[in-house]
Amino acid sequence: MKLTRQETAELVKAIKGKVLITTHKNPDGDAVGSSLGWFHYLKKLGKEVKLIYKDPVPHFLNFLPGTEKVETREKIEEEFDWVIITDVSDPKRTGFEGIPAKKSLVIDHHITAEPFTDYYIVEPEISSTCELSYHIMKLIEPELIDTFVALPIYTGILTDTGSFNYSNTNSQTHKVAAELLEKGIDPYFVYSNLFERNRLNKFKLLELVLKTLDFAVKNKVAHITLFKEFLEEAQALPEEAEGFINYPRSIEGVEVAVFFKEFEEGTWKVSLRSKGKVNVAKVAKAFGGGGHKMAAGFEWKGELFHLKQLLFENLETELKGN
Ligand code: 5GP
Ligand code: MN
Repeated sequence: MKLTRQETAELVKAIKGKVLITTHKNPDGDAVGSSLGWFHYLKKLGKEVKLIYKDPVPHFLNFLPGTEKVETREKIEEEFDWVIITDVSDPKRTGFEGIPAKKSLVIDHHITAEPFTDYYIVEPEISSTCELSYHIMKLIEPELIDTFVALPIYTGILTDTGSFNYSNTNSQTHKVAAELLEKGIDPYFVYSNLFERNRLNKFKLLELVLKTLDFAVKNKVAHITLFKEFLEEAQALPEEAEGFINYPRSIEGVEVAVFFKEFEEGTWKVSLRSKGKVNVAKVAKAFGGGGHKMAAGFEWKGELFHLKQLLFENLETELKGN
């Protein structure tokens, strides 16, 4: 059942019993920010809450209080009365085969979202699940939004908007950010924790990945590749490749940037970024994934050359349509 913000607020207020909060695998800032924000907020509302993810919180987000409470599991066995799933448009994205909960609620902002829970609120136009969560929280009990709630929410908005630079940023996003700063958030504290704690290994990995830079579709598509062995060579973690796609995207004349990541033998995680002419959510959807107009992704099993052939053909068609 599709809910409005007000209906979601009323539903959350009335939730009883054991509540599980989860998000997508390989969680990013918006995923961790929204789930953690709700965790702190629901505790303040007096609910019994647990945070379980498929994958651990990445290093760049581990400064957020409460991340130490996140449990990571391959499978969720215990029974919950409710599950709240944030920033997820497809049940596969949670990384869990099934979640044992009597009732379920999704809070999300992906255009490719298709309902898969009892209740859902999806606002594709909003910057982030964190911004949407903030609006709902304000409708419940605004005074419960303290720094523990505001910090992860601000962080998720910052990361999902590319530090308030992407096209999903508008005046409303800045208004919400301003309100969060008024709660006591220090922007440089967040910035320095997110972006000034890199390990040298990240740069070794970047060096290897940038060497793979190549072009397709008359140089309108720029792509980079991370082969599994690069992680070993650089002694780096997959999460340390976060942000690398901004390099091919930053090239003049490039319309679409693609990042092929081999995290398991023969399994490719593909990230797509557009400068506006191509709706990459549509492209990702054709490959079983999803996302937003300007940022999307999917997973693929098979040979890289085959994947490239299919993807570049698809992108060529999309670019011709403009
Ligand atoms: P990223 O490239 O940073 O992993 O993801 C960019 C956007 O695409 C995010 O909004 C993310 O939710 C979405 N996305 C990435 N990978 C997948 C995927 O495998 N399936 C779906 N449905 N969405 C994805
Ligand atoms: Mn998001």
